[in-house]
Amino acid sequence: MPQETLGYVEMEWTCRRCNTKNPGLQKTCKNCGAAIDADQKFEKASDSTLIKDAQKIEQAKKGADIICPFCSVSNAGDAKVCASCGGDLTKGQKREAGQVIGAHSEAPAAKVICPACQTANSASASNCVSCGRPLGNPVAQPAPAAPTRAAMPQAAWIGVAVGILLMLCVCGGLYFAFFNTTDVIGTVSAVAWERSIGIEARRPVTKENWRDSIPQDAEIKVCEEQPRTTRSSPDPLRRSEKICGTPYQVDLGNGMSEVRQDCEYQIYDERCSYTVLEWTEIDREVARGADLNPFWPQVSLAQGEREGSRQEDYEVTFSADGATYIYDTNASEFGQFDLGSRWTLAVNGIGGVNSVEPAR
Ligand SMILES: [Zn+2]
Ligand SMILES: [Zn+2]
Ligand SMILES: [Zn+2]
Repeated sequence: MPQETLGYVEMEWTCRRCNTKNPGLQKTCKNCGAAIDADQKFEKASDSTLIKDAQKIEQAKKGADIICPFCSVSNAGDAKVCASCGGDLTKGQKREAGQVIGAHSEAPAAKVICPACQTANSASASNCVSCGRPLGNPVAQPAPAAPTRAAMPQAAWIGVAVGILLMLCVCGGLYFAFFNTTDVIGTVSAVAWERSIGIEARRPVTKENWRDSIPQDAEIKVCEEQPRTTRSSPDPLRRSEKICGTPYQVDLGNGMSEVRQDCEYQIYDERCSYTVLEWTEIDREVARGADLNPFWPQVSLAQGEREGSRQEDYEVTFSADGATYIYDTNASEFGQFDLGSRWTLAVNGIGGVNSVEPAR
């Protein structure tokens, strides 16, 4: 995703010797004069105002500071020799940079409460205006170890066991209802069949798609601009809307942070409703009978019509000891079910017939 630079913010660091907060571009403590340590990271400043000072912006663009290999003093990213000892910086280590240090917000920073006298100080204050105590960020305490995961209480285990048992019961019940059968001797008391053929004609059907995906012969109804794709650059031919994420600050390793924002373009396109002619079932020709000689219905097609799908159903009714059972069969088996013939029916738990065979 393309990134944009919105500007630069000065970071800060806390003197390890006297706990005074210092501006990022000043590499020695303004209170005690101690230099920032080579391994010390800059912190996100509570004041996130974008820097206007051209000189500071110039410094931000010089890249990460170089730590002098001889005296450990921080030098500007483009320095060749150490400003403090004059040593050659070509073998000097660059300060770590590039980390995202958090979201950027230009809302006014919260006041800092002095831990000693409770006075509210401005966010950028180094020392308390009332008692003079340094207001640097305290050294982070190690977080307490996470509590070990509690064992599942006994009641929960019982619940799980009951749940599994219930599930087994339901599965068993379903199995018995559908697959456990008893044999019943039945006599064919009725047969019925139905065969049908669809009649299709081309009719207008309403659909929706992107304009460039609509078939040539379609009739376009209503179009509306909608976002279709995202790109890293605007599309000169289409409406392109820029969409940016939350700005964030990136540590430049030189006491400044860069405020960046990831943006992309939402490209709009026309989405239209349209109608096309499609083969649609407009009628069904049906033939029915109560005998063992099924046939397909006669279909007479008008101009612009064609035959559609075929459907067939065959049903046999058995009576056994005053009860009736319905059995659905297919065209090849149907011819065997002479009225009055005797069959052994496998009847399941809900009265359905799973299979039949001639009774001996
Ligand atoms: Zn200090
Ligand atoms: Zn040096
Ligand atoms: Zn104070």
